[in-house]
Amino acid sequence: MTTPNLPRGTHLQYRVQQLTLEEVDLKQLASTHGTPLFVYSKAAMLDALAAYETGFKGRQSQICYAMKANSSLAVLQLFAKAGCGFDIVSGGELARALAAGADAKKIIFSGVGKTREEMWAALGAGIGCFNVESLAELDVLNEVALDFGERAPISLRVNPDVDAKTHPYISTGLKGNKFGIAHKEVVQAYAYAAQCPGLRVVGIDCHIGSQIVDASPYLDAADRMLDLVDAIEANGIALEHLDFGGGLGIDYAGDTPPSADVLWIKLFEKLDARGYGNRKILIEPGRSLVGNAGVCLTEVLYMKPGEDKNFCIVDAAMNDLPRPTLYDAYHGIVPVDTTGDTPAQMVDVVGPICESGDWLGRDRSLAVQAGDILAVLSTGAYSMSMGSNYNSRNRPMEILVDGTEPHIIRERDRTEDQWANERLL
Ligand SMILES: *Cc1c(COP(=O)(O)O)cnc(C)c1O
Repeated sequence: MTTPNLPRGTHLQYRVQQLTLEEVDLKQLASTHGTPLFVYSKAAMLDALAAYETGFKGRQSQICYAMKANSSLAVLQLFAKAGCGFDIVSGGELARALAAGADAKKIIFSGVGKTREEMWAALGAGIGCFNVESLAELDVLNEVALDFGERAPISLRVNPDVDAKTHPYISTGLKGNKFGIAHKEVVQAYAYAAQCPGLRVVGIDCHIGSQIVDASPYLDAADRMLDLVDAIEANGIALEHLDFGGGLGIDYAGDTPPSADVLWIKLFEKLDARGYGNRKILIEPGRSLVGNAGVCLTEVLYMKPGEDKNFCIVDAAMNDLPRPTLYDAYHGIVPVDTTGDTPAQMVDVVGPICESGDWLGRDRSLAVQAGDILAVLSTGAYSMSMGSNYNSRNRPMEILVDGTEPHIIRERDRTEDQWANERLL
């Protein structure tokens, strides 16, 4: 069979018709450890980070990895060691980041629904900044910080009202969604925050959406945000940092997002032109650091011919890989061994879960039979971290590959782990 195309930035390669990740043979790995199995490339993650660092060369900057994309401890540890901070959205993520060795001062806390307990824990840890998303949250954080006895460092997340031209569920910078403070209310909100005795204004933040494949929404958002910075600073409130959020897309299906360095070179041209080139810049990338670094290996259980459609039933499902179900998302699906002579046929690749929404790929031409191993591509982001135990399925093992070395970074669930916190009547 012909060797399928692979997305960019993966460190995947067919060698003698066998799919490898870095120097590790994936069929072999599946046969040793079973499936479903997530496998990540350390080099792919570090390369993705290096592209941002190239774009930031000579500038004051801090990369805060948006850890909801993939919050496995070893992944966090890798980014912490590389000097990253973290963008967190819950107390659980705070605890995870700290357990993985994060520097608390480089942690920023986003999200529209922070609880008082989460605020208290973050103040206790000494995080770098709270990205506040509403006036009501400002008041609560002010109270909590006064009780705690320290001023909470804050940015306001502004909603720049630009269209990131992405899926509606992952677009966050438009008027109609729940994120951030409306553009026209921002200047007044800063004036209010600046006189709160429990708060210390340190920055401004925006995040316009996810899987953005074009530089223009970023450039528009930057202009809108810099207009606000002009106005806020004209009121005598100084901002130490400007945070441009995350959202840069990856290659799922031949998508061609700008590379991180090219995007930032363009953004710095704008910042320089408007006099902000020397300001400290924060960013919150998630998907673009880890998405193309991962694959999910799954075994074909049954080929099931049908009247309208043929189904390829595999042992991974929507609980492991929720993006197709949730966003109608596309992931490449390829065989790890292309030496076979099975004829190709059109199939829907589906999991064993009792839901029609449990599909991983539709109308794919695949030359496979029961027992073959498939790799679901670009599953390093929003896959394992979004997974569940639905249908009482054990969560998969995760392996991080470093050159020739596969490191197990999470054991497969044992079934009894699933009910460890449950009690019979
Ligand atoms: C999810 C999220 C990010 C990361 O988005 P990606 O598309 O994964 O880069 C960054 N900032 C905030 C506030 C987020 O909610």
